[in-house]
Amino acid sequence: MRIKKVRLAGFKSFVEPVELLIEPGLTGVVGPNGCGKSNLLEAIRWVMGEGSPKSLRGGGMEDVIFAGTSTRPARDFAEVSLLAETADGEQEVVRRIERGAGSAYRLNGRDVRQRDVALLFADAATGAHSPALVSQGRIAAVIAAKPTERRQMLEEAAGIAGLHVRRREAEIK
Ligand code: ATP
Ligand code: MG
Repeated sequence: MRIKKVRLAGFKSFVEPVELLIEPGLTGVVGPNGCGKSNLLEAIRWVMGEGSPKSLRGGGMEDVIFAGTSTRPARDFAEVSLLAETADGEQEVVRRIERGAGSAYRLNGRDVRQRDVALLFADAATGAHSPALVSQGRIAAVIAAKPTERRQMLEEAAGIAGLHVRRREAEIK
């Protein structure tokens, strides 16, 4: 799976809609402090189904919505869409959160659940926790990780993390 395009609107510091084309190969994000590099990585994790506000450096789910500045009013929603090239062709995933209304996902224009989106990426070894998304401090975290954590990283990379999700669900049922 390859990410081809990311579109953001109202997500953290990305107030106005912006579209980024991601070329094949290794992509680095550079820029001055506070320009939104980490926010961009978080947007990609978020649209892939990340549910933990902590890993998105926020207190609550709605903290991803542009909160306003002294010169700009806050937004009512945040939306991120991601176009991915997969073995089954191009797939477009959209996640949108509105104040007071929670977040919703669409896959190729159809309403889907968080689980559907998370499994799509887990099976393709590119989920929200994928080693393919290297954010600040991640290199040091690999070195310091406990063996069980490191195994988790390898399983993500191998694309078998989705099997664990399905097993846990089967055990609950
Ligand atoms: P560094 O090089 O220091 O790591 P960075 O490029 O990674 O910087 P980010 O952490 O992505 O920068 O962006 C930080 C900016 O995003 C801050 O100015 C912060 O105020 C802004 N920001 C984060 N969340 C929101 C939000 N919900 N609404 C408005 N602005 C936000
Ligand atoms: Mg940063």
